[in-house]
Amino acid sequence: MKFDAVYYEPDSLSYELGKQLKDQFTDLPWIPIDSHNSIKEMREKENAEFGKMKRNLIIGTRKTHKYVENQKVSDYLVPYTSSGCTAMCLYCYLVCNYNKCAYLRLFVNREQMLDRLIKKSRGSEKPLTFEIGSNSDLVLENTITSNLLYTIPRFAEEGVGSLTFPTKFHMVDSLLDLPHKGKVIFRMSVNPQPLINRIELGTSDLQKRIEAVNKMCEAGYPCGLLIAPVMLVDGWKELYTELLEQLRDGLSEKVKKEMFLEIILMTYSYIHRAINGDAFPNAPDLYDKELMTGRGRGKYCYKPEERKKAEEFLRSEIKRILGDVKILYVS
Ligand code: SF4
Repeated sequence: MKFDAVYYEPDSLSYELGKQLKDQFTDLPWIPIDSHNSIKEMREKENAEFGKMKRNLIIGTRKTHKYVENQKVSDYLVPYTSSGCTAMCLYCYLVCNYNKCAYLRLFVNREQMLDRLIKKSRGSEKPLTFEIGSNSDLVLENTITSNLLYTIPRFAEEGVGSLTFPTKFHMVDSLLDLPHKGKVIFRMSVNPQPLINRIELGTSDLQKRIEAVNKMCEAGYPCGLLIAPVMLVDGWKELYTELLEQLRDGLSEKVKKEMFLEIILMTYSYIHRAINGDAFPNAPDLYDKELMTGRGRGKYCYKPEERKKAEEFLRSEIKRILGDVKILYVS
């Protein structure tokens, strides 16, 4: 991964990870900032520069640590060691939160964040599951920070319950030998390769993702797959049938036996349309006014009748092709 510059809060350099990053990126210009939340120079950039902005690395400390209750695979969404990402999936929901500033920010106070998480896990009467990857892609981030190498063994040793994170990347080799004690649930997000090529810009190919989940399962991690987000583009039925057949042929028997599925239909927004229209003028427009609700400056999602049809189709194809896999939810 190539970066153009590092923007950093100066006190980051008093943390171990801050020092490590300083040594890693000595060749880049380091530009001091007051706050990672508000970088004037970035806010003033045009949408067309979105891709270029993603080539900056932002380093700071996380100051807000509010856990949000969640009812899907986890009990809480935990703001963790990063937000944003260097990839450019055209629907990325982080764009809704951070607008064109959805670049990768690394938070160096990881000891403080994990201490808090472990304490919370131990204070509960029942084992809890914490989603630590809802603000970024931790497998990608780990290639820069090694934060998963820090997090997984420590949580396994000191925490109660489970951690979980989803990814669209395949670089898991460094995680395979970690002592995880089965307390880390790995979730691989998949989509048909033609959609990865056109929409999930900068992420790993499907085949590599399949190999990665096979390896993680073999290494004893509980694993799941997210078919997400499902995009109802022209020819979507054929595309998703082909995806399911590739999963049937490529996933190991162990994964197929043990995995669970989550299925999430795509949501999109005015902000995505504005940024993508300027930054990727040749990319397909994911907004479909026939199939989606919402208009104006808000969010768009598929109409209930379209969602229902898609859900029925996917459930029946999953049963036909993959058998009785556990589907946790379709949303
Ligand atoms: Fe967003 Fe995930 Fe894609 Fe990164 S990999 S751009 S976080 S959807």
